Amino acid sequence: MQLRIPGPTPLPDEVLDAMHRPMISHREGEFRAMLFDITEHLKRSFQTEGDVLVFPGVGTGGMEAAIANLFSPGDRVICASAGAFGDRFGEIASRFGLDIVYVRSRWGEAIDLQALEVSLEVMGKVAGVLLTHNETSTGVQHDIEAASRLVRGSGNPDALVVVDAISSMGAVDIPVDRWEIDVAITASQKAWMAPPGLTMLSVSERAWAATERATLPHYYWDFQVARRFARRGETPYTPAVGLLFGLQASLHMLAGEGLARVFARHTELRDRVRQLARRAGLVPLASDEIASRTVTALRVPEGMRARQVTELMRERGVIVAGGQGALEDAIIRIGHMGFVSPADIDVTMLALAQVTAELSMSDGRELVPSTAGAA
Ligand code: PMP
Repeated sequence: MQLRIPGPTPLPDEVLDAMHRPMISHREGEFRAMLFDITEHLKRSFQTEGDVLVFPGVGTGGMEAAIANLFSPGDRVICASAGAFGDRFGEIASRFGLDIVYVRSRWGEAIDLQALEVSLEVMGKVAGVLLTHNETSTGVQHDIEAASRLVRGSGNPDALVVVDAISSMGAVDIPVDRWEIDVAITASQKAWMAPPGLTMLSVSERAWAATERATLPHYYWDFQVARRFARRGETPYTPAVGLLFGLQASLHMLAGEGLARVFARHTELRDRVRQLARRAGLVPLASDEIASRTVTALRVPEGMRARQVTELMRERGVIVAGGQGALEDAIIRIGHMGFVSPADIDVTMLALAQVTAELSMSDGRELVPSTAGAA
């Protein structure tokens, strides 16, 4: 089976083997050495001299943790969104009682930097800007470097830049310190070649200062407590020991390959997907300049439904994702992050070409949208 969804992603044997071992005490030397080693490797991938914290939890938990640690009720926060995950970030913040101003763009397009710039000037005091680096619902990679620069050059230079990099960190060059990102969030089941269940976040000095002022309640997700324990190689509560075995193995593999090579590989995979898709007559949702390096959304040809395509691909042993929200039946999404080779892409795209050819050659009966099971 080819698992080509945008997470969870396939696991290399090295990672599976590393997890196949007995538990260890999380209050002893072996565990401490492992957590220090994992943290050092993560800091290299995030390209930060600051702290990187690891919590048991999924990416959404990491997003919630960032909000709960950095802000206070009523804080004004801008959320730049052009997709399901951008909207989710804003939704989490508004549940916590923040005053959210959305800067929205159409799904499939880039975030609106001009509108962000104007908002930063006219909104008065802004405590933070919520950004999505890689919008997994549309296959768009947003220019968070430019967005961060706009924040620093605005009348709100100290606004916290909080980035959901869940589906790109580890696969894509995101120099957290150089781009002055205050908190960047990722999750183990994406580019990290590990199972779901860990969320990893970088925290800048500006963000640490914000945690001193922030009054939103949190207990499990307390960054300050996590940092205090991390300094001695421990976590406040029971860590996900088995997952950490796996993550350590995958980080060693990534280090062996070299960051530059990992980033280049993902760019090559993206280009290969888009080239083969176009050859099969399929049109990517995102334009080339803003195309994601880890997930590609393709419009399904006129007259076909995404669900037909994904079901027929499954019959050929390739699992891809459909769309989300309004795009549910209009696009399919192909994950190409983590443990993926050009050969995997070729198998996937061959199956896609065969399925779409088959559907377009059919006499049309299968193409008539059936009402049964329709959303
Ligand atoms: N943000 C982005 C950009 C994502 O791709 C995902 C997962 N698809 C999430 C947030 C949520 O992550 P999780 O499912 O681990 O909570």
